[in-house]
Amino acid sequence: MATELLKPDGTLDIDAIRQHLTDEFTAILDRHGKIRDHLQNVDRGKETDWRDAAQLIENDEVLEVLEHNGREAIMGIVNALRRIDEGTYTVCTRCGGEIDPRRLAALPTTTLCVRCADQ
Ligand SMILES: [Zn+2]
Repeated sequence: MATELLKPDGTLDIDAIRQHLTDEFTAILDRHGKIRDHLQNVDRGKETDWRDAAQLIENDEVLEVLEHNGREAIMGIVNALRRIDEGTYTVCTRCGGEIDPRRLAALPTTTLCVRCADQ
């Protein structure tokens, strides 16, 4: 798994990471059928997009049906996808340094470099 998210030259394959995160996101939605149903009711006929889900998850009504673990997982994924879109995916949120690509490949939702995570 981890190696598939790195290119042969050791840099991150952002497209593969985005796909991996989107797949995880869909898998979590599938485990929380109520949210998926809710999303489909809100946006009939349109494929569920993580941006739509992020908006709904941030709204209290949907929060009630997501137990804590599911919410943490999904917000971690949404946060990672946002960071990819913003171009800050590889930047540590604590020290501003670069996060090692191998660390991101192993832990695609991490926001900390290994030094900050160890603190
Ligand atoms: Zn750091």
